[in-house]
Amino acid sequence: MSSTLVNPPSPPPQPTAEPPTAVPPTAVPPKPLTSGAQGPLILFALWAFVTIPFVALVAAVPVAWGWGLNGLDIAVAATMYIFSGIGIGTGFHRYLTHGSFKAHRWLRILLTVAGTTAIEGSPIQWVADHRRHHAFSDREGDPHSPWRYGTGVWGLTKGLCYAHVGWLFRRQLTNQERFAPDLLADRDIRRIDRLFPVILTASVFLPAAFCGLVAGSWSAALTGLFWAGLVRIALLHHVTWSINSICHVYGERPFETRDGDRASNFWPLALLSFGESWHNSHHAEPTLARHGVDPGQIDINARLIWAFERFGWAWDVRWPSRERLDAKRRPTPRQPAHAGTMSQ
Ligand SMILES: [Zn+2]
Ligand SMILES: [Zn+2]
Repeated sequence: MSSTLVNPPSPPPQPTAEPPTAVPPTAVPPKPLTSGAQGPLILFALWAFVTIPFVALVAAVPVAWGWGLNGLDIAVAATMYIFSGIGIGTGFHRYLTHGSFKAHRWLRILLTVAGTTAIEGSPIQWVADHRRHHAFSDREGDPHSPWRYGTGVWGLTKGLCYAHVGWLFRRQLTNQERFAPDLLADRDIRRIDRLFPVILTASVFLPAAFCGLVAGSWSAALTGLFWAGLVRIALLHHVTWSINSICHVYGERPFETRDGDRASNFWPLALLSFGESWHNSHHAEPTLARHGVDPGQIDINARLIWAFERFGWAWDVRWPSRERLDAKRRPTPRQPAHAGTMSQ
């Protein structure tokens, strides 16, 4: 499978418009999209958490070469990566944002805490941003479209950087009251949301403490902090952000999506993202519990939700319907009769 640059959007991003489900004219006007700028402290913390783990990631190779990497570091870092990554994909995304399944309260809380350890923002803000992304995908109002600066090379380069990370720094916060009123009404979720700084600190330092205690040394704590804390966070950040940037520009688009929506399936990230990079299928049918809907598409989040269902921890799971998907499948371009001598 190749990663090809998809054609530029046609027509170009439309002016601001509510989705077809907008309220009728007689109803109360919708709440505003945003609710004010981020405070300076949040902005400072954001810079710190974007740049420090990334610098750590760049420094990782020479550090490993020298003195500080062993089996314990790898095991704890991998465990934490899976915990945080599942928390984002299964928890924040498929469960809290899209309601792909229902779950026992303990699982709801566990998934929300797990997603919070990824340090991608508090759960309610994350969900509000992502619902807004679906409401305005690649149109004005989308918080992180790579197409916002146009379809030229420079515009797209700038747009990819913006969609990947830039949007976090130059934005009005998505209005939680408009996009996540269900979560604001949930006392447990609000409590976890408020505990974001505590969970953030634990996510960075607990793996380090664990490594230090198991190996009985300060140097083990330090390498644990580096690998299971900083490098793990950086890697998951960039994988998640790539869904916003790469998966709206490169890859396959087997399904029809709404006008202007450029979501694409990008197979190289399927494993590291636990199935989140089947992004075209996801935008075509956003509430499905499975994003890798075609044969051979690895989707670990879907497999986990399947296990939850088998154990009786989750129910009302929205599994794909073949007929619905086929109705949205784009026709495969027919090969010209004399084309393609490369494979002979
Ligand atoms: Zn998207
Ligand atoms: Zn989504």
